Amino acid sequence: MDRDSTTAAGRARGLARPFHSLTNGPQELGCGGYSLTALAGQYGTPLYVYSADHIIERFGYFERALAGREHLVCYAVKANSSLAILRLLAEHGAGFDIVSGGELRRVLTAAPEAVGRVVFSGAGKTAEEIDFALESNILAFHVESEAELKLLAARAARRKRKARFSLRVNPDVFAETHPYISTGLSEHKFGIEISQARRIYNEARSSRWLVAHGVSAHIGSQIRTAEPFGAAMARVARLVCELERDGIRLRSVDAGGGLGIDYEGSAEFDPQAAVNEYVAAIEGALKGLDIKLLLEPGRFVVAQAGALLARVLYVKRNGKKTFVITDAGMNDLIRPALYQAWHEIVPVRPRPGAKKVVDVVGPVCESGDFFAHDRRMKPVEPGDLVAILDAGAYGMAQSSNYNSRPRPAEVLIAGNEVRLIRRRESHEELLAPELVGLTGAAV
Ligand SMILES: *Cc1c(COP(=O)(O)O)cnc(C)c1O
Repeated sequence: MDRDSTTAAGRARGLARPFHSLTNGPQELGCGGYSLTALAGQYGTPLYVYSADHIIERFGYFERALAGREHLVCYAVKANSSLAILRLLAEHGAGFDIVSGGELRRVLTAAPEAVGRVVFSGAGKTAEEIDFALESNILAFHVESEAELKLLAARAARRKRKARFSLRVNPDVFAETHPYISTGLSEHKFGIEISQARRIYNEARSSRWLVAHGVSAHIGSQIRTAEPFGAAMARVARLVCELERDGIRLRSVDAGGGLGIDYEGSAEFDPQAAVNEYVAAIEGALKGLDIKLLLEPGRFVVAQAGALLARVLYVKRNGKKTFVITDAGMNDLIRPALYQAWHEIVPVRPRPGAKKVVDVVGPVCESGDFFAHDRRMKPVEPGDLVAILDAGAYGMAQSSNYNSRPRPAEVLIAGNEVRLIRRRESHEELLAPELVGLTGAAV
């Protein structure tokens, strides 16, 4: 595929997003020098497009901010669990935060050598998942209840394998974000009340199969200020000191993920500065503790690296409203419907003319199937391509087959090449697991 040679990958460096105007030909949005029009022509739409350079740059911000102290950055697999992206991050030294046996399978498939850098979070681990993770010899279990710790001890004893664990404590810190992605208050289902943690660590000493490895906290997602992270870690640091007095020496503190991005795409947003401030708040709270620091960023690493490309099917007016109907729907990107999330939407080849106020919607039969309400946008016509930006995190990962729609293809632009990292699903694949069951036999 032709590539605009003047826009090398490096051009995007330092910018909040890897999608920018190509410099040759008509004005057009591209990524890594590739034309999005050409990508849509080759791979079809809806299509997820990601920049590998951007992902590595974002990951590098954490590595740089943490240089000089013992640390491990465990990418939160649930944000985007594409095997190619896991492989890419593993090659750059990432560990992984997983929340299911399925995600462990993904890490083992993409980067088996990284299994010693895996931490396992989640409030509802099954015995099978615990067994699988013990067998795989992951770094640590992030245990979210006393009952889970008991189960972990029993499964470890059965296999005669030591289980390293961290209690995921709930520091009861409020963080300003959407209620569906806030997790750090005692009213949430996540973690163990921090006031109970000391007792539980002490009781865990009675099992010879449990090894207290660390302590973890994750207070929520899309948090735009550093203070709540500092406040949570101050409480965690106090716990670490109390445990030390009890003779329990933890090896690591995990501050979770949750650092937010700028979905508005303002030019002032400096991602390295945001990470530095975030890390400074955490390190400030841990001052004086000689302990390894783990972080679990998801969104911050992959969100702005990705866009969802969609083609405009129809533009129609109903009463006062103008609807732009695209071939992508809420099954491909559910964030607007689920969290009232705001995504910037830009025509790939802008047409002349004044901006218009439109609703950008999908073809799914739900009024919740929208990407934007009352959005001022450059005019578009049927056949045009639009890019829904900042869709790299919790986009494809939350996609579904609702309305019997096959999931989109995904491409990764890495250096000088475009790689298809997931082909479009076929209708045959959608139907394959099902049984019609109407053969006339008695039930
Ligand atoms: C979801 C999650 C993360 C990642 O959150 P982001 O907001 O994507 O950074 C990290 N840790 C845990 C335990 C999570 O559940």
